[in-house]
Amino acid sequence: MSFDLAARLAARRAEHLYRQRPLLQSPQGPQVMVDGQPLLAFCNNDYLGLANHPQVIEAWRAGASRWGVGGGASHLVVGHATPHHELEEALAAFTGRPRALLFTTGYMANLGAVTALVGQGDTVLEDRLNHASLLDAGLLSGARFNRYLHNDVQRLAKRLEKATGNTLVVTDGVFSMDGDLADLPALARATRAKGAWLMVDDAHGVGPLGATGGGIVEHFGLSQEDVPVLVGTLGKAFGTAGAFVAGSEELIESLIQFARPYIYTTSQPPALACATLKSLELLRTEHWRREHLNGLIRQFRRGAEQMGLALMDSFTPIQPILIGDSAKAMRLSQRLRERGIMVTAIRPPTVPAGSARLRVTLTAAHSEAQVQQLLDALEACFCLEAEHA
Ligand SMILES: *Cc1c(COP(=O)(O)O)cnc(C)c1O
Repeated sequence: MSFDLAARLAARRAEHLYRQRPLLQSPQGPQVMVDGQPLLAFCNNDYLGLANHPQVIEAWRAGASRWGVGGGASHLVVGHATPHHELEEALAAFTGRPRALLFTTGYMANLGAVTALVGQGDTVLEDRLNHASLLDAGLLSGARFNRYLHNDVQRLAKRLEKATGNTLVVTDGVFSMDGDLADLPALARATRAKGAWLMVDDAHGVGPLGATGGGIVEHFGLSQEDVPVLVGTLGKAFGTAGAFVAGSEELIESLIQFARPYIYTTSQPPALACATLKSLELLRTEHWRREHLNGLIRQFRRGAEQMGLALMDSFTPIQPILIGDSAKAMRLSQRLRERGIMVTAIRPPTVPAGSARLRVTLTAAHSEAQVQQLLDALEACFCLEAEHA
């Protein structure tokens, strides 16, 4: 018996699915150094341009001087420090909910919340295009696990009819590879009608969406009764790292008792929570970031539509260009890179077979001139591609 890893790796390569990690040799931002090449990048999730913000960096520095660098223990032992607690209170106020609980990553928040809420005899229903962490959470929970067609509330309602035990409906807020929104008002109605709970992972909505950056629930004006379990992540628009679950007193106490990815891990560095408190303040108050970003999104869509590119139904910073074939998506990404532009090609299994795409993401740190540079480069690369086809 042996692990034939070489054969698996060769097969992956043959399918044009082989993954490589670009080496980032500069701070995150529009202008980066990657593998020794200066590039104008449209692929990070730092939507509000806070990952390299001087005030956030200073808050982290001051936090490290005051609190040291390591969490030192899990939250339930002696790792739950004052900055973590203050951040939780600030996130509860931000989301307008009684409590919020800080997790080390979004992946862990999703695993923790789903597995704490449902188990054997229960049901978990998920959108087919949900983030991998939510799908993994559903499988790990041991509950009956079903996926419904993307945003298809009617199909969901049918599944809800047959659901047994406690039933959790789980969806991305903004779908991470498509940029479209969950039909949250309809999902909330359908789940409430059946006494089920709705959990929304708004990793890409918190920050860019809503009048004060409150994400998809603020965008649609939904309450805690509509969406009892709200997850936000801190590594995207907040520009730092970590995640939170916001909801009722009972929900948060239950997670503290039962969410294993919360209990059995060291708390994040307290100084990181200090940095996140600062980025939360900037995210809430500096509305110009959202306004500028929305202007860039409109500029990009207008330009790309004029070129006849296949955009998706998205008004969020995630603006994928649908290509289809994985090899072609890779080739276009490579051509862009030769012109100094970095846009990632996203291939199966991250997206469904035959739906490879160039995933463009825009941030408040980009300028209109940089978006125009992207549009010009896209025009040149798609022309070349057409000639070679
Ligand atoms: C990025 C992402 C996560 C994971 O969050 P991390 O903090 O990076 O672990 C979870 N859900 C969605 C929808 C995401 O896009």
